Amino acid sequence: MAHGVVPPHIYDHIIRTTNDPDLKNRAQSALHDLSNLHSPHQPGQGEGITAGDDDTTYTEQQTPQGQQEIKELEQEDEQADKNDPVDPHDLPGGRKRRQKRQSTEVPKFVYNIHQGCDENPPSMVDRKIGSPIAQDPDVNTVYDSLTVVDNFFRTVFGYNGIDGNGRDFRGTVHYCDKYLNAFWNGAGMFFGDGDGVAFNKFSDYLDVIGHEFGHGIIDAKNPLYYYGQSGAINEHYADVFGIMIKQWNKSQTVDQSDWLVGAGLIPGARALRDFKNPGTAYNTPSAGQDQQPNNYASRYTGRYDNGGVHLNSGFLNRAFYLFATSLGGNSWDKPGRIWFAVLYNNLLTYNTNISSFVTQTLFACSYFYGGKSGTVYPKLLEAWRTVGVPIVEPTS
Ligand SMILES: [Zn+2]
Repeated sequence: MAHGVVPPHIYDHIIRTTNDPDLKNRAQSALHDLSNLHSPHQPGQGEGITAGDDDTTYTEQQTPQGQQEIKELEQEDEQADKNDPVDPHDLPGGRKRRQKRQSTEVPKFVYNIHQGCDENPPSMVDRKIGSPIAQDPDVNTVYDSLTVVDNFFRTVFGYNGIDGNGRDFRGTVHYCDKYLNAFWNGAGMFFGDGDGVAFNKFSDYLDVIGHEFGHGIIDAKNPLYYYGQSGAINEHYADVFGIMIKQWNKSQTVDQSDWLVGAGLIPGARALRDFKNPGTAYNTPSAGQDQQPNNYASRYTGRYDNGGVHLNSGFLNRAFYLFATSLGGNSWDKPGRIWFAVLYNNLLTYNTNISSFVTQTLFACSYFYGGKSGTVYPKLLEAWRTVGVPIVEPTS
C-alpha cells in the first residue's frame, strides 16, 4: 500500500495550464503513478516485503510461527504489566498490546537510487546506524530526519519503529528524474528531487517525512481504508504526526508553531497544508489553489482524489489545531496522546467514518482527562463543533 503526499489536483492543474512540455510530462508521470499508488487494499493479506541489505522479510500473515511470536509477546506483556501496570496509552476496549517494550534506537537505512524509478531500494545501503556520513548530502538529511522521527515516537509515545516492535525505517532518495512526489509504499519511503519549478526537493522536509512514516504506523496499528472518510482520517493522522514531529523537533508550543506542513515545498507558496486555515496553503499559477474545505458542511463527496482523502483531511486538521491551541502547551501532550491512543488501541474500523472517529477521540479524552466534566473534554467538543462534524458523544 502506498501513499503519495501531493494531492492529484495539483498535477491536473499543471497539465491543464503549463506551456512547458517537460513539466507537463513530469506532472503526467506523477499523476499516473498516483493511481497505482492508491490502489484499494485489504489489510492482513500477508503481503511479504523484502527490502534492503539484511534480507529481512516482513509479513502480516499469522503463520504458526507468527502466532507463537504473538503468544510470547503477550506473555512478555503480562510480565511487563506486573512491573509496569500503567501503560499511558491503553484504553478500555483496546486491542491487547503486542509489542516488545524496548526503547533502543530503531535501525534506519537510507539508499540512493540515482534517479532510478524502481520501487525497490538498491542493494547497497548508503547510510545506516554506525556507518560513516554518506557522500550524498540528501542521504544524510533523510538519515537525520529518520532519527528525529524515531526519537519522537520513542520519547513521546514509547513506540518503537514502524510497527511498535522495532521494525526499521527505510528511505530512498533521488527517486526518478526530477520526480514530483514522495511516497510510502509499505516497505519504505521514496523521495523525488522535484524540479524547482512545481516542487522543491521532497527529502528536505521533516514534516513530509513524518507524514509518510505516519502512514506506515497507521497501516501497522489501525489500517484505515484509503478512500472516502476513512481515507481522509488516514491522511489527517499522517498530517498530525508530521506537524507534531516538526513542532517537537523545534521545541515549539502550539502558539509558536506556524501549523504548516511542507512550508516552502511549492515554490512561491506558503506550504502544502495549513492546519489553521485549510484551503489557503497555496495559490500559485503553477500549483493552482489549495482545495481543502475548512468545515464538514463543505466537504467533498465525489470520487476524485480517492473520494477526497487529501481534501476532507483539512477540516479534521483544523479541529486538531483548534483543540491544541485552546489548551496551549505542546501538541504532542494531551492532543497527541488522545489521537495516538485511538490508533494504538485499534479503536477505528477499517472503513470508519468521521462521526465514529470523533466519538473515539472524545472517549479517549474523557478517559484520560477527568471525564466529561473535566476541563479538557469541553474544549475538544468545541473544536469538533466549530468545524461542524456530526458528533455522537460517548456514553462515558
Ligand atoms: Zn498522505
